[in-house]
Amino acid sequence: MSAPNRAVRDRLRIAVQKSGRLAEPARALLASCGYAWRETRDHLFCIGETMPIDLLLVRDDDIPGLLADGTCDLGIVGRNVLLERAGECVLAGAPAPFREWRGLGFGACKLALAVPQQWGEAQALALDGLRIATSYPALLTQWLDERGIAAEVVTLSGSVEIAPRLGKADAICDLVSSGATLAANQLRATDVLLESEAVLAGPVAPFGDARAEIAALLLRRFDAVLGLRDSKLLLFQAASCNVPALMALLPDAEQPTVMRVDGTDRVALQAVCRGAVTWQRLEDLKRAGADALLVVPVERMLA
Ligand code: ATP
Ligand code: MG
Repeated sequence: MSAPNRAVRDRLRIAVQKSGRLAEPARALLASCGYAWRETRDHLFCIGETMPIDLLLVRDDDIPGLLADGTCDLGIVGRNVLLERAGECVLAGAPAPFREWRGLGFGACKLALAVPQQWGEAQALALDGLRIATSYPALLTQWLDERGIAAEVVTLSGSVEIAPRLGKADAICDLVSSGATLAANQLRATDVLLESEAVLAGPVAPFGDARAEIAALLLRRFDAVLGLRDSKLLLFQAASCNVPALMALLPDAEQPTVMRVDGTDRVALQAVCRGAVTWQRLEDLKRAGADALLVVPVERMLA
C-alpha cells in the first residue's frame, strides 16, 4: 500500500507512535471513540474503516515535524516532545506551527532536574557553572534562562541518567515517572520543569476544509471518553428523610434521579459520579442511611 495522497484532504491523518509507551494507549483511546481500522502490511498506516481517519505510525520524535510540514493533520505525542520542539522554534526566533489541543490522560511523566543523592540542599540549589545533561536542551535552556542560571547544557540523545557517573555532567534533566531509574543511578529529583502526558497536537489555526468536521467529531468523542474515565453509575436505596444528607456526600453526582419505592417512604436513587467511588465513600453513604448500593461502570454517555 502506498502512502495516501497528500492532496486528498477529505480524510484526517493522525501521526501516532508506532511502538513504545504511547502506541497501545493511543490506539485504545481511538478504539473507545468508535474508531476501527486495518493496518497495512508494511505497518506504516492504519486505514480507518469506521471514520474517515488514517493513522501514520512513526517514531514519537518525528511527530512535531510531520505536523509542521503538513504531512499529518494531528498527532498523539508526549507534551515533553511537543514543547521541546516548540522551544526549538522559539529559540530560533519563530513561533511553533503546532499546539496542544487536548491532554489525553495517559503517558504521565515529569521532566525533572536530578542531582547526585549525596549532594546537600545548598549544593543542589547552586546550579551556576554546572554541566547538566539532557535530551531536552530547549526546555532546559528556557528554564535556566528564566531563572538567570548560567549552567552548561550538555545534549545527549539517550542514557542521560548515567552521564554523572561517566563524568560527562554534574546533574541531569530527564523524564521521570516512578523515580526508580534515578534511584538506581544514585540520583534524586530536585525541580520539576514540566508535568507531561500524551496530548493531541494539531495546527494553530482550524482546518479550512472537510477535515474540520472530522476533527470536531473526534474531539467530541475524546471529550466524552476522557470525561467518563473515572465516572461510575451509583444506584442505592434510602429512607426519604436521609436523601439530603446522602446528597451532601455526592457533590460530584450529576442530576441524581430519585424514584419513590411503591407503598413505602423509601426512594431509589441513581446518579453518575465523576469522581472515584471508593470503598470509603460507599461506607460513608451506608452510614448516612444508604443501602442496596451498586456501582456500575459507565461505558458511553451522550448528554
Ligand atoms: P520512539 O521509538 O517512538 O522514538 P521513545 O523510546 O522515544 O520511542 P518511549 O520511551 O516509548 O519513547 O516514550 C514515549 C513517551 O512516553 C515519552 O516521550 C513520554 O511522553 C512518555 N513517558 C511516560 N513515562 C515515561 C518514562 N518513565 N520515561 C520516558 N518517557 C515516558
Ligand atoms: Mg523517541
